[in-house]
Amino acid sequence: MLRLGMHAGVIVLLTLLTQIGGATYGLALWLRPRFSWASTSLGLAGLFVALYAVAWLPIGQIAALGGRKPLPCVERAGLSASVVSCVLHRNYVTPELFDVLTALAEDVARRYPGAKTRALDANFPFFDGVPLPPHLSHDDGEKVDLAFHYARRGAPAPGMLASPIGYWRFEQPRQGEPLPCGTRSQGWRWNMEWFAPFTRRDLVLDEERTRYVLRWLAHTGAERGIGKVFVEPHLAQRLGVSGDVIRFQGCRAARHDDHIHVQLR
Ligand SMILES: [Zn+2]
Repeated sequence: MLRLGMHAGVIVLLTLLTQIGGATYGLALWLRPRFSWASTSLGLAGLFVALYAVAWLPIGQIAALGGRKPLPCVERAGLSASVVSCVLHRNYVTPELFDVLTALAEDVARRYPGAKTRALDANFPFFDGVPLPPHLSHDDGEKVDLAFHYARRGAPAPGMLASPIGYWRFEQPRQGEPLPCGTRSQGWRWNMEWFAPFTRRDLVLDEERTRYVLRWLAHTGAERGIGKVFVEPHLAQRLGVSGDVIRFQGCRAARHDDHIHVQLR
């Protein structure tokens, strides 16, 4: 009974993390009796990893039938998704958003040769209306989070992320900048102080390149179908970015001074 509960818990957790992970684990449990080497926990984990890897290509092909395609895991024309989002199949978008992001990455690389555009969590491969925890709005292929650009020791640091997952290295408001939500965690607005040791201290926000991205989204992006870009008010002010699509997500949603949220109209 305990074992059954444990397997059910693993299936739920893997489904929340990767959408297809839970079903893959269920398949591994079903196939397990056929492979004597999979009788141990380690063997079961190995069988799961093997099935998960084998499913990789078909998932992309089946997702295409439903109108979603993966952002590249190996950089293409300056654009790539983070390793975490790729491994967990959290890098799927609609063809329309794919094209806008490709155009953004190309323009950024043209303006700043060598610059890389890094996507973080996007959407799962299948089904509209299934959110990608903890991003409740990422449920239709039309949402994506982008990493900021960073510099290191005074020089650009193309493609580098400020934490292993790309999130939660917040650009704190400075004295005199707008602070509409105060400083406490509330709702889904987490300050994640415990995570600070896992973030990189040697990277600083590359204000020029990040400003270029935000302005591109506010103008060219808006012309190409971008409807909303979430960024904290203090960063929009500091970087001098404005436009109809530049929005504040409110005080009960996740902070947006560690990444940029982008969505189609
Ligand atoms: Zn988002």
